[in-house]
Amino acid sequence: MINLHDIKGHYIDGQWRKPASTKTFSTINPATEEVITEIPAGNSLDIDAAVCAARHAFDHGPWPKMSGAERGAYLRKMAEIMNSRLDELATLEVLDNGKPFPEAQWDIEDTAGTFEFYAVLAEQLDNNKERDIALPEPRFSCKVSKEPIGVAGAIIPWNFPMLMAAWKVAPALAAGCTMVLKPSEITPLTALALAEIADEAGLPKGVLNIVNGSGKDAGQALVEHSDVDKLAFTGSIPTGSKIMSMAARDIKNISLELGGKSPFVIFADSDIEKAVEWIMFGIFWNQGQVCSATSRILVEESLYPALLERLVEEAKKITIGEGHQEGVLLGPLVNNDQYQKVLLAIKKGIEQGAKIATGGQRPEGHDKGYYLEPTVLIDVSENNTLWTEEIFGPVVCIKTFSNEEEAIRLANDSRFGLAAAVMSKDIERCERVAKAFRAGIVWINCSQPTFVEAPWGGYKQSGIGRELGEWGLNNYLETKQITRFNSDEPWGWYIK
Ligand code: NAD
Repeated sequence: MINLHDIKGHYIDGQWRKPASTKTFSTINPATEEVITEIPAGNSLDIDAAVCAARHAFDHGPWPKMSGAERGAYLRKMAEIMNSRLDELATLEVLDNGKPFPEAQWDIEDTAGTFEFYAVLAEQLDNNKERDIALPEPRFSCKVSKEPIGVAGAIIPWNFPMLMAAWKVAPALAAGCTMVLKPSEITPLTALALAEIADEAGLPKGVLNIVNGSGKDAGQALVEHSDVDKLAFTGSIPTGSKIMSMAARDIKNISLELGGKSPFVIFADSDIEKAVEWIMFGIFWNQGQVCSATSRILVEESLYPALLERLVEEAKKITIGEGHQEGVLLGPLVNNDQYQKVLLAIKKGIEQGAKIATGGQRPEGHDKGYYLEPTVLIDVSENNTLWTEEIFGPVVCIKTFSNEEEAIRLANDSRFGLAAAVMSKDIERCERVAKAFRAGIVWINCSQPTFVEAPWGGYKQSGIGRELGEWGLNNYLETKQITRFNSDEPWGWYIK
């Protein structure tokens, strides 16, 4: 169990290393605005030590040479420990991030599930490592193999702290890579627990290294380190763009999971109660701090008045509070910066003509904590920033459409392309609209359910590459061809 009053440093080369500097940063409980604890602020020296440990473990350690089944056994052990510490880990997420406890429990279950899933894929790698490729030239034979890329650097956000770590750590380790993880400085706690879990599972030293710190100091040092072969980033578009240009210097292999502004198209034949439930889940779970949140609702004109009325009624009933309180569905936003950003976005949107149907205020009885009422906005023009920009809070905009073609046009008119959803009783229409969406993840008659088996990632500015499933594993594998000349005859370039 992590001792919040005695954070020992960074987890490097299988041990807790004293930080290079005495500088620390505070992590805050967003429900109370109080400091939970001080965390050592990693810098380029800590990152260098972590990358060196990962490099050594990759180049000289047992990890990449082990069979997939052996690596899988470590991943399973880690999942087992996570499950045995589920409520303690979920509590850390509630403290650090503010999310309701049942949602934090889902996160930890999914985190353990991700390790179990990649344990299976690691085992399967043993049988799929090499395959023969047919060549048109009979004198040649060719084999294609998969190999771990090397040292992977992972940089993650604060909205699902442990789960976002798992989406990168589990496939990287399954593939045989070693890793340096830089968690978000806003939610550093469960990453420390992850280090304890790796330690308890007996992971060989240097395989997983974890350095907390800011993006500017620790994050940038990781991106720029020349011994990092692969960079996996999840976060905002501006940071992703910076990372892409830094990684360009030495042509690092990168994958980017970035922001979203996902549409949810609801046709008039939909059941209103189901539509309201999925709209609310799609934008209010995790306080709307979800990359795939369906924050742009498009409703067919004839359904709009009744749907809006029911949505407003239900949004007003949502219980708001500290994540451990019984029945709470909406916790505080993650910190004051995020809270102020969301309030400012609402204010700017209203100045541009949007109107509040409900919410937009600090809820009564919550003087402390970064609480915001579930917010529904109407009369939002196509170029209102509430419609075009990611807000990352419990804020949803509703617009109408008159026909399928218009719905698709409005849904796709965005620089984002992470996710999209459609609802109708007419499944053929749903399938048609799903195909027309320019987005990497599409939900029919629901919004948000995510499965580790299926690929996750965006079109357009929402990112590059895919996580989860076999695609997540491929992020950490190189493809090699070995082509052999099998003839005793000369090749014939100059000897005839
Ligand atoms: P952010 O970009 O501010 O920070 C993400 C991470 O990058 C943090 O660890 C931060 O310390 C680090 N960082 C910041 N500047 C850096 C730099 N110059 N060099 C290296 N690292 C740096 O994002 P955030 O506010 O933590 O997260 C919210 C964003 O993440 C939203 O846009 C959301 O949509 C996105 N997100 C996307 C997905 C997805 O799967 N596509 C999932 C979750 C969150």
